[in-house]
Amino acid sequence: MKTRKYPMKKKINLEFFVVALIAVLLTLSLVVAVCYQVFQSQVMEDLRSYAHILDSVWPEEKEDIENSVHRMDNLRLTVIGKDGQVEYDSEANENKMENHSDRPEIEEAFEEGEGEAIRKSETMDKDTFYYALRLNSGEVLRVAREAGSVWNMLNQTIPALICVCVIILLLCMILGYFLTKSLIRPIETMAADIDNYEEDMVYEELRPFVATIKKQHEDVLQNARIRQEFTANVSHELKTPLTAISGYSELIENGMAKGEEALRFAKEIHHSSNRLLTLINDVIHLSELDSMLPDDGKEPVDLYEVARACLDMLQFQAEKHQVNLALLGVSCTVLSTKQKMEELVYNLCDNAIRYNNEGGSVYVTVRPSGKKVILSVKDTGIGIPKEHQERIFERFYRVDKSRSKSTGGTGLGLAIVKHIIAGSNASIELDSDVGKGTEIRVIFYSEQE
Ligand code: ADP
Repeated sequence: MKTRKYPMKKKINLEFFVVALIAVLLTLSLVVAVCYQVFQSQVMEDLRSYAHILDSVWPEEKEDIENSVHRMDNLRLTVIGKDGQVEYDSEANENKMENHSDRPEIEEAFEEGEGEAIRKSETMDKDTFYYALRLNSGEVLRVAREAGSVWNMLNQTIPALICVCVIILLLCMILGYFLTKSLIRPIETMAADIDNYEEDMVYEELRPFVATIKKQHEDVLQNARIRQEFTANVSHELKTPLTAISGYSELIENGMAKGEEALRFAKEIHHSSNRLLTLINDVIHLSELDSMLPDDGKEPVDLYEVARACLDMLQFQAEKHQVNLALLGVSCTVLSTKQKMEELVYNLCDNAIRYNNEGGSVYVTVRPSGKKVILSVKDTGIGIPKEHQERIFERFYRVDKSRSKSTGGTGLGLAIVKHIIAGSNASIELDSDVGKGTEIRVIFYSEQE
């Protein structure tokens, strides 16, 4: 991902500065251009007035004009005959001057009565302005003067322009500084305490962003709380069997238990270690499921076959509890992993046996229903009171703690079931009546739906 080089404030300030600079330069160039235009037309206007005044008195007062023209500010006077030959020039010897008929202003004057031109002078900062007028005699009278060029104008105004530029830019920078500060302030305040931020104080454009962050933040807190609760629960569950193991083994160590009693204690130690092992196994399973991606290694699994294998495994335990097992239905395929399906069916059937009555039954059915596949585990056991039905899928939640423990339960079986279902495009339904029995149905949806 591309990282931004500048912090936001600096970036806004910089862009603000660049925009201001461009605006100031553009405005100043425009002002200079307009001023120069006005200046040019002013000079031309002056020359035109001179020429018209001279026209009315030329050539009667030729002598006077010739004498006074030198005193006139920068003004040069030239008279060109019909053939283009210079007849009079106030600044040069007319006899040595070349034919002037190809000068644009003179050509224009011969044709249209008057003509104008501006030409560069030898020095960069000066231009020469020409105005030519056709006299009644057919000759052309041309007045010319040198005046500052646009560069000259720029030269003269540059110090003032720089001053104005600097002042405007300084103002822009100060303004930009406060503007960005006030623009960023809501974001900074929000970042400082995102939980207690009032919605209407955030920019509208940022609201979805804030909502997402808030949601994520709440999720993180919630996850941390769940994890911490889970750790506390696991530690608590580990403590009881470990205390038993430690106590009984200490008695044996001190020689306080002998013969029959030592054997009984050894049995207790064995039982508690088994409890520890199942518990740790379940915790490991849960954390594996937590770290698995939902689509990790999915394959078609025959649910009927999985159920048959599970019931075979549980046959011995069922006989111990005097419970009958029955498998019904047909072969159906679901998309998951074999290990997950085995765990799911095993946990449900295990519960159906452990929370059953002597002489009771467990019916496992696998059947298709439209595009769905339904797994049902039904028992004729003790049932689950309504008020507990919502919570039995929580980790370590048990309706009857002592019955769960005495039959080797960890309180994690249904939590594992729920976890597997969450990653399997499936849902779960529970029907249970106290004293009558429980049916848990898992509905697998086809992946194409
Ligand atoms: P456990 O290891 O205690 O069986 P589970 O997560 O498998 O933990 O089940 C949670 C609780 O739900 C059990 O302690 C039990 O009280 C209740 N329960 C689960 N399955 C059944 C069932 N088939 N019949 C009655 N109660 C059940």
